[in-house]
Amino acid sequence: MSSDTNSKLSFATRSVHAGYDSTANEGSLNPPIYMTSTFTFDNVEQGAGRFAGEQQGHFYSRISNPTQEILETRLANLEEGEAALATASGMGAITATLWTLVAPGDQILVDETLYGCTFSFMEHGLKKFGVDICYADFTNHAEVQSKLTDQTKVVYFETPVNPNMRVIDIAAISALAKGYSDAIKVIVDNTYCTPALQRPLTMGADLVVHSATKYLGGHGDLIAGAVVGDAETIHQIRLFGLKDMTGAVIAPITVFLILRGIKTLQLRMERHCQNAQAIAEMLEQHPAVDQVFFPGLKNDPWHNVAAKQMDDFGGMIALELKGGYKAGVRMLNKLKLAKLAVSLGDAETLIQHPASMTHSVYTVEERAEHGISEGLVRISAGLEAVGDIIADLEQALAD
Ligand SMILES: *Cc1c(COP(=O)(O)O)cnc(C)c1O
Repeated sequence: MSSDTNSKLSFATRSVHAGYDSTANEGSLNPPIYMTSTFTFDNVEQGAGRFAGEQQGHFYSRISNPTQEILETRLANLEEGEAALATASGMGAITATLWTLVAPGDQILVDETLYGCTFSFMEHGLKKFGVDICYADFTNHAEVQSKLTDQTKVVYFETPVNPNMRVIDIAAISALAKGYSDAIKVIVDNTYCTPALQRPLTMGADLVVHSATKYLGGHGDLIAGAVVGDAETIHQIRLFGLKDMTGAVIAPITVFLILRGIKTLQLRMERHCQNAQAIAEMLEQHPAVDQVFFPGLKNDPWHNVAAKQMDDFGGMIALELKGGYKAGVRMLNKLKLAKLAVSLGDAETLIQHPASMTHSVYTVEERAEHGISEGLVRISAGLEAVGDIIADLEQALAD
């Protein structure tokens, strides 16, 4: 199967095959790992041509590598974009992208709640360099509309939002931004869904960023990221954001592991979603639980928009206990099977407390302003038998 794998094949098939041709690689079923920093040239003219971008071919692994290229082709195919760039981490993808797209005086319009380090990069990082960071509640379309300005270069959000599980309408926000100016780049962090559940580029977004550390890798054994979009913008991000600004280059061995993970992406996502649905339904009925935030619940405020744009409701749940923060600490310390750990999308069910862990880079005041409550507990539903996970949660919640 060639690198321009036919997009008429189903998602599961493309997850296994897209971007890799065994016949061009000694018949090796799995891709070779090119552990090389540099690439030899046949002559000076060829080397100069590659540097100038006039000739195809790799020249140094901070820019590209043949193993990495397989992953990039596969991700572009699955997200239905023209091109992709794989990076050393999700933050590597996000920072390389934003460093490429904005300059002092520009504005980035973002949803009020962001993954902790994304928030920190914008609020404590880019702001220092004269980029204006403007927040809006992206579930309120009138507010987003009113905050678009001639300085707005990027509109950025996650959906579902980490950690409070609000769901943002990708098509509606993209239409608002494009209606204001075609030049605005709409960027969606698709880490929570992966292309197995949601493909923002087909809904009007320009770029998708990922922490591949999570569901794409899927096994909690690596850190990686990616950005997917049109070929020209991805090329710019590679040659500036990656090559010069961050150097956040992915290692070929890590690429190999992500390619392996993606082969089972759809299978895993199906189980993550089923397990999360059952866990959320149990928690919703539990007397110790005040509120469950999961778009798969019929009375969740974001159920309809989630049903419209996601193929299933995902594997992430947030909850608030009646006893608040103290009850949360007690529950987390009593768990036996579920692991107390940040990150998400692994085979193991992972539970954490955003205010003291993933979102601790926000100050207390910033958390209050940005919709992250102090007592919120976040669950990443794993791949274990759901009865075992539920039994563990129930014993941890019992008096
Ligand atoms: C984890 C995460 C990131 C950051 O990715 P790293 O791979 O840890 O650098 C960005 N966005 C979301 C939504 C995440 O969950």
